[in-house]
Order: sequence, then C-alpha cells, then structure tokens
Amino acid sequence: MSAAIPENTPVWVNEARCKACDICVSRCPAGVLAMVLDPHKVLDKIVKVLHPESCIGCMECELHCPDFAISVADRKQFKFAKTSKEAQERAERIKANHFMTIE
Ligand code: SF4
Ligand code: SF4
Repeated sequence: MSAAIPENTPVWVNEARCKACDICVSRCPAGVLAMVLDPHKVLDKIVKVLHPESCIGCMECELHCPDFAISVADRKQFKFAKTSKEAQERAERIKANHFMTIE
C-alpha cells in the first residue's frame, strides 16, 4: 500500500525507506535537498527537503534513488520553480560540504 501523495509540495521523502546514501543530494541541481544529522537514523543522518521553493521538477532525485524513497510531484499538479543562479550556487556549496546542509 502506498502512502498518500502530499499536496502543495514539489518533492517529498519516505524516511522509512531512505538509506542516507547521498545520491539524490548529489544529483539535485537546485540545492533543494541536503543531509542533516539525526542520531536516530541509519548512518546518523537523513535527507531533508530544505528548499522546496527552488525545485525545478527535473526528477533527477527520484530517478536515481536506489530505494524509491524520494518522489517528485506531477507537472500537471505542481508549478515548479525556474532555474536560478542562487539555487545552483547553493547546490554547489552543499556538494562541497559532503552533501550536508550548509544552514
Ligand atoms: S537517494 Fe534515496 S536513499 Fe539515498 S539519500 Fe536520497 S532519498 Fe535517501
Ligand atoms: S526534482 Fe530535481 S530540483 Fe527537485 S529536488 Fe529532485 S533533483 Fe532537486
């Protein structure tokens, strides 16, 4: 049985499935996602959607997650952001920080 699809959000994580592998963060071009410390999770960290307002709906996270733990809204249901230099630069800083949040 699949969980209900949340409304008004471009991307969401099923934390029970997430293995904290960093792949989605490494793929995101818009700095939407980052890992945060959480001692109760596998590897002491978990992925969070920290900047949903920057999501361009590229699907890179969902397509590359090996555990089907991250989902992107349907283009017909959600109006995604346009690519911005600020979001691209944030993505680069997160990647340089070993995929951990910079906030
Ligand atoms: S790619 Fe999937 S399993 Fe890996 S951190 Fe992202 S959501 Fe979690
Ligand atoms: S759909 Fe693209 S921009 Fe949105 S969180 Fe996933 S990888 Fe990032």
